[in-house]
Formats: sequence, structure tokens, C-alpha cells
Amino acid sequence: MKNLKLAAISGSRRTTVRVGNVKVGSGFTVIAGPCGVESEAQTLETAHAVKAAGADMLRGGAFKPRTSPYAFQGLGLQGLKILDKAKEETGLPIVTEVIDPRDVSWVCEYADVLQIGARNMQNFSLLREVGKSNKAVLLKRGMHSTIEEWLNCAEYILNEGNPDVILCERGIRTFEKYTRNTLDISAVPAVKELTHLPIITDPTHATGRLSLIPSMSLASIAAGADGMIVEVHRNPAEALSDKDQAMTPPMFMELMAKVRKLEKIMKAEGLR
Ligand code: PEP
Ligand code: MN
Repeated sequence: MKNLKLAAISGSRRTTVRVGNVKVGSGFTVIAGPCGVESEAQTLETAHAVKAAGADMLRGGAFKPRTSPYAFQGLGLQGLKILDKAKEETGLPIVTEVIDPRDVSWVCEYADVLQIGARNMQNFSLLREVGKSNKAVLLKRGMHSTIEEWLNCAEYILNEGNPDVILCERGIRTFEKYTRNTLDISAVPAVKELTHLPIITDPTHATGRLSLIPSMSLASIAAGADGMIVEVHRNPAEALSDKDQAMTPPMFMELMAKVRKLEKIMKAEGLR
């Protein structure tokens, strides 16, 4: 692929990104939590629920890049402090989005993984800034971006000296309207052919439909993904963002049992 140097595959070397005790790129890593941090009670309750179900990391946005400027924009610093408390109580590392290069240094005080959202995939000054940090970066694929454009964005981060990049396929825009986006499941093995970096999927934003999330989670394991990120809310009806696609804790618990089972079967059969 054109211009790829540091991200390009070379021999059999694969990058494993260490986040606390979690190794992304070894086994199937599950990141779960609310779309946005809305309150201490909502975040802590959801964090304990996803931990009990076996999630490896907690997600939650303190900065929400919304389609409408009038929609909930996140709690900012207060949200990061709540995530910190959730980490202290559950031990789960925190994955949270950063949307402005000026915020990177102080968001690093709270985040274990800096998420670059789909809308910011090609925000090159933001990519350079997270590339200078010492935190792992979860780089989501832009909804209008090709794999080549996406991997070049990973290259920006690596080129600043940060080797810890995790790619995330979160669905792309197609003519299909039944789903919020179209999960490009073929991007998983394609990316594995092209780069040594780990790749996870986001079945929640890819489908936007609760009923489809379990199948797409299992499809991700079958396709060889290194993990997934999904939204869980203690009470989705009350969520301030993405309420129609958040799983309840019992739904997530049920999905996790299937995820761990398929992961185990595939490993035992030499398929992963
Ligand atoms: C999110 O993870 O909440 C989010 C906004 O995702 P994306 O950037 O993929 O739309
Ligand atoms: Mn969301």
C-alpha cells in the first residue's frame, strides 16, 4: 500500500498494545461502557456491570462530537474525573475520546487509551498530538474513508514516535439505510494483510441496531478481529446520546457468554 512505512506489515511481527494488564492483539479484548459519561451514578453502575460481565476495559465519552451543536456535548473534565473514579473502583482501564489537540495533554492524565473518533480520523494536528503522547490510541475509521486513508492516519501517529495504535472498524456509509452504517467486516482480514497493528470492531456504531449487535460481534471474532468496543447503558431509555443502540447490562452479559464461548472454540480448533 502506498506510503506506508511504519504501519506496513513486515514479516510475521504483530504489534501487541499493552494497556495496564490488558494486551490488545492477544486474544479478544472487549471494551464496553456508555456512549457518554452523563453522571457519576450512571457511569459507576454501568462500569460495575460491564466488569461483572467480563469486559476488559471501560469506554465513555467526556467529549461528545455530535451531529447537532445543540445535542449533549459531554461533561468534559467532570466526566474524566468520573471515569477516574470508575477505574479506581473496578480496575478497568479507561478508553475515552479526545477531540481537540489542545486537550490531549490533560486528557492523558485520566485516559489509558485515547480514542480518535470517526469524524476526526483525518484531523492531522490531533493525530500528531496523540502521536507525541505516551498513551495507546484507538483510531476509528472515518465513515467516508478508505482503508488506505485510514492506515495513513495510523502512520501519522506512529511517525511521531507512538507505537501503540489500535485500529477500529466502526462501519462506513453506504446506500443502505436499514443500518446506521455498514460494518465492513472484510476490513478486518484486509487490515491484517496490510499492517501489524491490532484491529477491533465497533458493532454498536456500525449497525445502530440492538438486534444486530450480537451477530456482528461474533462475526468479528470469526473474521479474526482482536476485540470489539460496544455501548452499554444502565438504562438506555434515559441515555443522552445513542440511546437506541445501547445494550442493557443483562443483554451485554448474555452476549459476553457467547463471545467467550466462540473465542474458546476457535482457539481450541486452531482457527484463531
Ligand atoms: C463513540 O464511540 O461514541 C463515537 C462517537 O464513535 P464514532 O466516532 O465511531 O462515531
Ligand atoms: Mn456513541
